[in-house]
Amino acid sequence: MGLEPFLGWPFFEEHHRRLARELHGFDVHQESSSVEEACRGLVRRLGEAGLLASCISQEKQKFDVRSLALSRDILARREPLADFAFAMQGLGSGPISLFGSDLQKREYLPPVARGERIAAFALSEPQAGSDVGAIATRARREGSQWVLDGTKTWISNGGIADHYVVFARTGEGEAKAGLGAFIVDAGNAGLRIREKIETIAPHPLATLEFQDCRVKADAMIGVPGQGMKIALATLDVFRTTVGAAALGLARRALDEALARVKSRQVFGKPLAEFQLTQARLADMATAVEAAALLVYRAAWVKDTTDGRITREAAMAKLFATESAQQVIDGAVQLFGGTGVVAFARMKT
Ligand SMILES: Cc1cc2nc3c(=O)[nH]c(=O)nc-3n(C[C@H](O)[C@H](O)[C@H](O)COP(=O)(O)OP(=O)(O)OC[C@H]3O[C@@H](n4cnc5c(N)ncnc54)[C@H](O)[C@@H]3O)c2cc1C
Repeated sequence: MGLEPFLGWPFFEEHHRRLARELHGFDVHQESSSVEEACRGLVRRLGEAGLLASCISQEKQKFDVRSLALSRDILARREPLADFAFAMQGLGSGPISLFGSDLQKREYLPPVARGERIAAFALSEPQAGSDVGAIATRARREGSQWVLDGTKTWISNGGIADHYVVFARTGEGEAKAGLGAFIVDAGNAGLRIREKIETIAPHPLATLEFQDCRVKADAMIGVPGQGMKIALATLDVFRTTVGAAALGLARRALDEALARVKSRQVFGKPLAEFQLTQARLADMATAVEAAALLVYRAAWVKDTTDGRITREAAMAKLFATESAQQVIDGAVQLFGGTGVVAFARMKT
């Protein structure tokens, strides 16, 4: 497919357009007997194709957020599970890229980028979702080890990850200040997958239990008390890309709706020829363009300045996710009854 006009926007450089071509050339289909197996296959192949390179940053804590956003936009538009597989490699290794020691970076980041190691980010708990400061998982120091006890839930890649970046209370300071971040390898005897969570759009998701889970002192990322800063800085990088994924889903809904209204005949002519249909499509297309502008504006600001971009990223995520729901609902309405039929796999 030819490159789309938005890639000519001044936010992008030539290497972004090259990446977009590679992403469009990637085969997102993954024949598998389970969602877990599909994810493993996608991570491995994305890594082999070099498409996970932007998920890690070895130098100067600097990510190319435009590449991350572009990857999520294009993958989500083609196959949401491929976007999920991509995104978690970034989120689940982000704390290491941003705050890890040289040793941690050397050990974990290259295999994550090659798709040989699956990453996960374990922050949420049953009583600590939006309220991250309520985290109750504890980490206590015993000699040369840290010992973790607690429960994490909603953990993407739970059960298939090779490592989890786990946030736990190390005790220093007030509720929000006293957190630390730890790398826990999947084989650790103190880590148990308590429950797999089935979701409407299937992807690997689980509740994890840590019981007397021992890690070496050098498994800590950064220093005790830095956990909240690490979590927020990581989310700050990836927040814009959540908007990008929503944008990709909205684009797909618009693609499907456009094709449908041209082929569907009602009252003797294509649905596309009715002015009400055209007005709905105009609203959908405008929402997509506006979301794209906010998403790539936020990514560009992050890439070209040193400061935090909490405001720009929050606006991009808010607008892109909310408008994606409207665009997708618009597409469902234009499909009529067919809009609610479950498809095993739609074409990409
Ligand atoms: C598919 C999926 C994948 C996920 N993957 C991960 C993962 O990999 N790692 C991880 O750590 N977590 C993950 N999460 C968890 C996610 O980060 C939490 O669901 C999120 O932080 C919200 O927490 P909660 O579900 O406990 O909702 P709650 O915090 O209980 O929020 C419920 C509602 O209350 C609203 N609310 C919250 N605070 C206020 C307030 N002050 N005033 C008014 N309203 C408020 C919220 O906006 C929301 O609408 C995942 C969740 C899902 C659904």
